[in-house]
Amino acid sequence: MSKKAKSTKKYPMSDKEYLRHGGGKCPFCGSENLEGQGNGDTDGSDHWEEVLCLDCHKSWNDIYTLAAYAERDDMGHEIATKGKPVEEDADAKG
Ligand SMILES: [Zn+2]
Repeated sequence: MSKKAKSTKKYPMSDKEYLRHGGGKCPFCGSENLEGQGNGDTDGSDHWEEVLCLDCHKSWNDIYTLAAYAERDDMGHEIATKGKPVEEDADAKG
């Protein structure tokens, strides 16, 4: 029986494998030398961002799915309101 000393990793990696690294690795060569291209768009609850690998020069889209929202105050800071019901204006009843 001959066992290979090196574990041959398969590329491109699966979505599952990619997510396991938190998206911080190139799915085609495993490099962490990545650069966001600043291109992206939102379609409903889906969002994508273009990423380029500086080693193998492949590019791909990171796909994000809407998970939650965070309210912001007038200063643009996030307000922790998760789980709290929205206050209703009593005068708005009619
Ligand atoms: Zn790469």
